[in-house]
Amino acid sequence: MNPIKFLRSYCLSVSLLKKFLLAPALGLVLVLPFYIFAFYYMYSMQNSIQEFNKELIPLQEISYDNIFLLHKIVNETNNAVSAKEVEWLDNSQYDANSIRKNLQKFSNTTYSNEANDALVSFNEYYKKVKEVSVKIIQENYDYKNIDTDTRILVQRYNSINEQFNELKLKIKEHMESNVNSIYEKIKFLLFNGNLIFLLWFILSTMIIFFVHKDLKEKIKNIVIDSREIAKGNVDFKKRLNTIADDELGQVITSINIFIDKLHKSHQKLSTAKAKLKKLYITDRLTGVYNRAKIDETIENELKKAKRNNSIFSIIVIDIDYFKNINDGYGHLVGDSVLKEFSNRLKKNLREVDIIGRWGGEEFIVVCLEANIENTLLVAQNLRAKIEEHSFANVKSVTASFGVSTYSANDSLESIIERADRALYMAKESGRNRVCSI
Ligand code: GH3
Ligand code: MG
Ligand code: MG
Repeated sequence: MNPIKFLRSYCLSVSLLKKFLLAPALGLVLVLPFYIFAFYYMYSMQNSIQEFNKELIPLQEISYDNIFLLHKIVNETNNAVSAKEVEWLDNSQYDANSIRKNLQKFSNTTYSNEANDALVSFNEYYKKVKEVSVKIIQENYDYKNIDTDTRILVQRYNSINEQFNELKLKIKEHMESNVNSIYEKIKFLLFNGNLIFLLWFILSTMIIFFVHKDLKEKIKNIVIDSREIAKGNVDFKKRLNTIADDELGQVITSINIFIDKLHKSHQKLSTAKAKLKKLYITDRLTGVYNRAKIDETIENELKKAKRNNSIFSIIVIDIDYFKNINDGYGHLVGDSVLKEFSNRLKKNLREVDIIGRWGGEEFIVVCLEANIENTLLVAQNLRAKIEEHSFANVKSVTASFGVSTYSANDSLESIIERADRALYMAKESGRNRVCSI
């Protein structure tokens, strides 16, 4: 598995503490096998040192001792022969035994073969030395053999001396190799220990660097998003990215929950605002637009007409003898007639035309992009639809219509005033009719 990918997926799923603990954990992974190896090495070094102390040093002392004793034996036999004292040869016998004992000490060591060979040579040499010396002291030595014997003794002496020196040298070499191997092992441990420390240091620094970089980026994003939220620039469709499961991930989740709640509040507020807006422009009794909305519509249409050189018309409608309905059937029936009346008007208008309650039992219709002829047709149609409709309780209701069309330099007041006058004319000329100015 790719270690970078592993590190990344690990970093996404664990807490901040665990992320930072990666560095010491890595140290443990690197150092632990090294420690085990180092302990094994130390153990082997200890064995080398023990061998050094218990075996090699005593053997080296013995090998020096043997060389010394060999020289001593030569002197002692010379002295005994010179003084013609056989008893003096006992000293050399004593030293010869010491050499034998010394050589036996090599028996369980790696040098047992060399020591045995040396012992055999020494015994032969000492036997000959003693034999010749005793004969000379007791004056029964045949001096005809002196050259041969001297040659043999010198040869044997040299050979033993060489063997003893070789043994000494071998032990020395063995000691040196032990010291060298200990030195090499210490060097190896120091080098690899330093190498592992360096590796750990570099990797730990990298881990801390990457974790920190990752955190920095996430915190930066959180700060940017939080600032936007604080400014009120919240994109309710967008949520912050929660890729990690750590503490920052939890902070991001909380922010997202906050955005969710904010979104819901915002939606409620928007609905309330829309309701309020509707209430503000709607007539409560009939549900059609109120006077404020109609005023606003006419103002807008005036601007549009002036700007685009376009046209529009208005129809003012007043129910005939409405007072009689109130008086005859009561105020509540009067209200229901107002509702039914406005519904009939709405049903018989185009979608683009706008109807509102002007006040009392008067209504107003704004016909967009309609000239006088078209508007008169609309008004006539409405009048007929009202006349032919059978209202609940009161059955028959009629209304009078006053129509006016936009003309240059018209104002809200002027266009309404003309429609009002037309309505007055309709009333005056017998009601249930349409007039225009
Ligand atoms: P005309 O044909 O001349 O218009 O006669 P009219 O009886 O309709 O005369 P007028 O316009 O003077 O009367 C309007 C009446 O409408 C007066 C008022 O009591 C009544 N009215 C105004 N607003 C309401 C309302 O909201 N509900 C009810 N039931 N009656 C209302
Ligand atoms: Mg009226
Ligand atoms: Mg009326």
